Amino acid sequence: MNNCYLCDELLTAENRTVEHIILNALGGELKSSELLCRQCNSKLGDGPDAILAKQFEFLSAYLLIRREKGKIPIVKGGKTASGVDIDLVDGSTPRLGRPKFNVETTERGLEYHIVARDEKEMKSLLQGIKKRHPFFDIDKALEVAKTKIQRIKEPVIYQQTFGGDDAFKSIAKTALSFFLHNKGEKKHVEKVVSYVKGKECDIVRYFHSAKQLYKKEAGEVVHLLHIVGDKYHKLLYCYVEFFSSHSYIVILSDDYRGKNLHCTYGYNLITGAEVKKDVKLKLDRLDIENLSSKFSYFDEIKAKADRVMSIATQRQTQREIGNITQRAVDEIFAKKYGHESVISQIMIDEFIERVTIDFVEFMYGE
Ligand SMILES: [Zn+2]
Repeated sequence: MNNCYLCDELLTAENRTVEHIILNALGGELKSSELLCRQCNSKLGDGPDAILAKQFEFLSAYLLIRREKGKIPIVKGGKTASGVDIDLVDGSTPRLGRPKFNVETTERGLEYHIVARDEKEMKSLLQGIKKRHPFFDIDKALEVAKTKIQRIKEPVIYQQTFGGDDAFKSIAKTALSFFLHNKGEKKHVEKVVSYVKGKECDIVRYFHSAKQLYKKEAGEVVHLLHIVGDKYHKLLYCYVEFFSSHSYIVILSDDYRGKNLHCTYGYNLITGAEVKKDVKLKLDRLDIENLSSKFSYFDEIKAKADRVMSIATQRQTQREIGNITQRAVDEIFAKKYGHESVISQIMIDEFIERVTIDFVEFMYGE
């Protein structure tokens, strides 16, 4: 029998809920139904968790991280140098942020120029025109409409803000949940409980160690949680690292009276498997005092973020090569020669040509 660690309500079959210790939106897998009641969980989910999730939305999507439930969400807010809004669909496909709709008066009458993002949107825009012009023929307009896949020739920029009190509350909750999930006693972490519940408190700090804290394997991107209970220094803290690049210390207690404690959880987002990590981290009171809740680790984070982005780009490339092949199979073997049962040399040549054109365009943008 457990109680919700935030509101103390007894957890029953009715109000019990699965809490993702690392947010599901960040691809987290570790979870427990012994921590929070439904009400507290959803209150945090709509508030601090949603804000933290938003901050990592692009990175998570670009790494093609699937959540436990559902697809990779559409990431909004991209902009090309010439100011066109671009969304990122399914982690890798750029799409116009909004349809284009222009009306021009010419000697032939009104001319509408529409670029819609799919057929459904085109239909609905045409229906809007029909409301103003009852004789307008939607089917005829659809007949002359063309489907076009275009590569964007200029870079798309996504700006992202990290940190802030709400995001920190969600990070503190992750550390807190991890501690309690590992049978830590709530009496040691009351300060963090009240912080997550809304009280102001400076307990989450940025932390980027100059030394490597654990061994990184090639191509892995991890979420890592590591709790240290230090009887001698009366300190209890949790190192939280997201996407192998953003890391924090959550001060769980600065007057810790419990036993010495080390407890680690690592999760490789690329393979979707738990990983064992031997984390070497030892902080004293002065180290912790010197950590800031204001961000100042630009150089450290840049090197780590560059590594993660290059892993993501490799994944994107692999996926696009797969997509190019699939599109050519669909176009040549299924659509054009779908009725033929024997594959001829002509079909193979056409297939190779299609793949080559798309591939060169993808690699060199020509
Ligand atoms: Zn509760």
